[in-house]
Amino acid sequence: MKKKIAVYPGSFDPVTFGHLDIIDRASKIFDQLIVSVFVNSAKKPMFTVEERVDMLKAVLKGRKNVTVDYFEGLLVDYVRRKKTKVVVRGLRAISDLEHEFQIAGINRTLYREIETVFFMPRQRYSYLSSSVVRDIAHFKGDVSKLAPPSVVKAIAAKKAG
Ligand code: ADP
Repeated sequence: MKKKIAVYPGSFDPVTFGHLDIIDRASKIFDQLIVSVFVNSAKKPMFTVEERVDMLKAVLKGRKNVTVDYFEGLLVDYVRRKKTKVVVRGLRAISDLEHEFQIAGINRTLYREIETVFFMPRQRYSYLSSSVVRDIAHFKGDVSKLAPPSVVKAIAAKKAG
C-alpha cells in the first residue's frame, strides 16, 4: 500500500508544546510526517532557519516517522516535490479559522488535489503560540511550561547574546 505522507509547514520560531501536540496527533494518522520550516523573508524571526531546523531535529529525535526539513517559495510546489497532497495545520481557536480557511482555499486553487487536514491541540495549548513564547522571553519570563527544555535553553542563550 502507498505510504501516506503529510507535510506540516510553519514558522516554528520557536517550536512549542502546541506544535508538538499537533505533531504527535498527525504522526499517529500518517505513515510519514515532514515538519518543514517555511523560509519567510518578510518576517524578522528570532531564530534563523538553521537554528529552527536544528531545534526541531533535537526535539523530534527518536520519532521514527517524523522528519524535519525547510522550504522556500510556494507550499504547493514543495508539497508536489515531496510527492504528497496532504498538508497538516493546527487549529487553536475559531480565530485561527479565518486565516487557515484562506490559506487552504488559495492552496486548493493552485493545486486542486491538495487536502489540508486540521488538528486541534489539547485545550491547555490553545492559547499558546511562538509569538507568546517570544514575548514572555523578551521580558525574561519563564517559558518552561510552553516549550521543551532545549528550546528554553536556546532562548536563554539567544537573550544572553
Ligand atoms: P505560521 O507562521 O505558518 O502560522 P506557526 O509556527 O505559527 O507558523 O504555526 C504553524 C501551524 O501550527 C499553524 O497551523 C498554527 O495554527 C499551528 N499552531 C501553532 N501553535 C499551535 C498550538 N498551540 N496549538 C495548535 N496548533 C498550533
